[in-house]
Amino acid sequence: MSGSLGVTVLGATGSIGVSTLDVLARNRARYRLVALTANRDVERLATQCIAHQPQYAVLADASAAQQLRERLRDGAPDVQVLAGSEGLVKVAGLPEVDCVMAGIVGAAGLLPTLEAARTGKRVLLANKEALVMSGDLFMQQVREGGAVLLPVDSEHNAIFQCMPAGFVPGSGHPDGVRRIMLTASGGPFRTTPLESLSQITPQQACAHPNWDMGRKISVDSATMMNKGLEVIEACWLFSVSESLVQVVIHPQSVVHSMVQYRDGSVLAQMGNPDMRTPIAHALAWPERIEAGVDALDMFKVARLDFEPPDLQRFPCLRLAQEAWKAGGTASTVLNAANEVAVQAFLDGELAFTGIPAIIESTLSRVAIRAADSLAAILEADALARQCALERVSAGTSRRVSS
Ligand code: NDP
Repeated sequence: MSGSLGVTVLGATGSIGVSTLDVLARNRARYRLVALTANRDVERLATQCIAHQPQYAVLADASAAQQLRERLRDGAPDVQVLAGSEGLVKVAGLPEVDCVMAGIVGAAGLLPTLEAARTGKRVLLANKEALVMSGDLFMQQVREGGAVLLPVDSEHNAIFQCMPAGFVPGSGHPDGVRRIMLTASGGPFRTTPLESLSQITPQQACAHPNWDMGRKISVDSATMMNKGLEVIEACWLFSVSESLVQVVIHPQSVVHSMVQYRDGSVLAQMGNPDMRTPIAHALAWPERIEAGVDALDMFKVARLDFEPPDLQRFPCLRLAQEAWKAGGTASTVLNAANEVAVQAFLDGELAFTGIPAIIESTLSRVAIRAADSLAAILEADALARQCALERVSAGTSRRVSS
């Protein structure tokens, strides 16, 4: 490696953002922080700016950005503070940026992540929702912009590590690959009696057994919508059909995924469940850097279990698979309805079992169209959100799930 790489961390204050800053701090000679972004967490972003002194800090919320300017006057006066979606897009595409960590949660990450792809960056993709909602367009921007798309999601990073030499996401079907085995922990409710699922609280749903993550992805893991989104993500990244992506429940979260080859070989990537490993891998690829992660102790792990998923327990997984097969804007609608339903659940307005009910009802009401332009995708996203919000307020979920 020659010279240091300029890095923008989108979603710096979140779980992925904090882990990214930790890895960057362990490898200061290789990376130069250009920008840090968040939504409205002024305090955490200010602390990060004072510690890391980036060139830019962006808050999506304009009034929070004003507070940040005042807060940084003493500790980091040289940091330029920007606001809004335009600010996020700007720091994703700056010429001095080589590498963008896409760590915003949900559809809010779409425009800056697309900008990073369009301007040919090394795009480290954690924000799976951006790819799920705009797959074809996203992959096209990657190709046309000459970007290098590297998966950070632990499963997709594992699959990438098990791919044939020379393979990069978006380069077509990998040679000799028969099947991708996408592992899933099964979340906190893998064995909870089905009749108790409707009583689950946000606090219980956010207590993941193996991973420490943001609240939205924690709920997605509990419903297994996370795995559904990941099936779609895998289809785009690895140019495979959904039938070649097998979901495998693996409660220990040690095998992060596997690739099966034509000759019968199965390659697996293993490690402790710590996102700093895939983040470090994507940052340094094809080299390896220090991530601060403990070595895996196979004697402590002792056993590895695998079982098929129960689609009755986890209807969100089925809904995602169906949306992928339906094509067009169906995945956009699925993602938007899920974001609305998860937020309603976290706000105490919807039962846990109401989440799939809202998504299914939204998918049946919003017309699916070709996802051939950003305008079509944003329109489908807006329509689905409106429909899902109406279903939440109408209390449909309670009726459907009872
Ligand atoms: P968090 O909720 O912890 O963090 C989300 C980040 O996005 C925060 O910096 C937040 O800012 C910012 N953000 C939220 N809304 C907006 C908005 N409207 N505009 C701009 N920025 C916004 O999420 P995670 O770090 O857990 O997840 C981030 C992404 O990575 C998700 O797509 C998730 O699926 C994916 N992922 C996460 C993993 C994990 O281990 N956490 C593993 C694999 C994938 P603020 O703090 O100001 O709200």
